[in-house]
Amino acid sequence: TAETIGSSLIPVINKLNDILATAGVELSDISIPQVAVVGSQSSGKSSVLEALVGRDFLPRGCEICTRRPLVLMLENCPPNSDDDRVEWGEFRHLPGRRFYDFSQIRQEIQAETEREAGCNKGVSEKQIRLKISSPNVLNMTLIDLPGITKVPVGEQPSDIEARIRRMILAHIKDENCIILAVSPANSDLATSDALQIAKLADPSGSRTVGVITKLDIMDRGTNACNFLLGRVVPLKLGYVGVVNRCQEDINKKRSIQEALAYEGQFFHDHPVYNGVSNHCGVPQLAKKLNQILEQHIRKDLPCLKAVLNSRMHEAMKELQTYGDVLESKEEKGARLLNILRRYCDDFSAMVDGKSQEMSTK
Ligand code: GDP
Ligand code: MG
Repeated sequence: TAETIGSSLIPVINKLNDILATAGVELSDISIPQVAVVGSQSSGKSSVLEALVGRDFLPRGCEICTRRPLVLMLENCPPNSDDDRVEWGEFRHLPGRRFYDFSQIRQEIQAETEREAGCNKGVSEKQIRLKISSPNVLNMTLIDLPGITKVPVGEQPSDIEARIRRMILAHIKDENCIILAVSPANSDLATSDALQIAKLADPSGSRTVGVITKLDIMDRGTNACNFLLGRVVPLKLGYVGVVNRCQEDINKKRSIQEALAYEGQFFHDHPVYNGVSNHCGVPQLAKKLNQILEQHIRKDLPCLKAVLNSRMHEAMKELQTYGDVLESKEEKGARLLNILRRYCDDFSAMVDGKSQEMSTK
């Protein structure tokens, strides 16, 4: 199966977890950054997020679909042997109800969007919170956000653009949030809303990754190569170009696996993108993000090591109070007998009223 967001880190984190658990240390000392998608409406933000998770569950489409922030909490759970339905979703607004069918999750996101933001393109800043529990995800949070629009439509207020910008900024201002700035390749990349708003929250560009979508529908005779290589708008963490499902694919319910295969073939066959393959494709984007996440975890390691060292120091000190380290079974047996003997002597001394305390030596 293809790499998804966090997937390559699950074994590392699990191992770390085991080590820490034996030392009685909580994994909460490791902070895994959030990942949020920003960009203009219909740039492909929800499509990118869905492809990164490798599951079909987000409303996508050519009109405004994402109308409330969706906070997606991925939670790693061990596979359960009595239940083969290992993956499920649970909404904050429907506690206790497990969704095993991901298309029902999508329906509920749509229904809950309408409950709060109406049926006529209204937007609300009230979050929808969804937990996805699966053995194939890393414990982390992803955020899908409404896109930047310019012209109010339907029930949208006249200041819709300013409202959405504020909502986006509120979600990406946290230093611990990785921003996926999503720009569609079929519009002028140099005027990208995504890069502009990402820059407001992250002026140094230390936590912004550029994602160029819709490489399949660029004006014929043009390509995004210079952009992908950072020659137009440089970005420290660089760019990845992707091809997600078009509206027809969505209508025909084309699967993520089919879409990934199509994307792979597209880049492989393309005379230009073929030469910059490390900048192309959802699997490359997942890989890049996982490397970034890994670096964040690495940053926490010295601190964890210090905690473990001090625990070890305490344990060693305690060990020394039990006497020298013994090698052979016989020696251990003799030492144990000796301790027992002293214990019995002390015990009888105490019973006889000769002593108030028992030796702990
Ligand atoms: P969002 O509004 O930014 O969340 O965008 P969506 O993910 O909802 O996608 C908007 C529309 O663009 C949908 O109809 C998608 O099918 C289409 N789309 C997204 N990515 C691509 C792509 O890479 N290629 C093509 N051809 N269509 C895409
Ligand atoms: Mg969306």
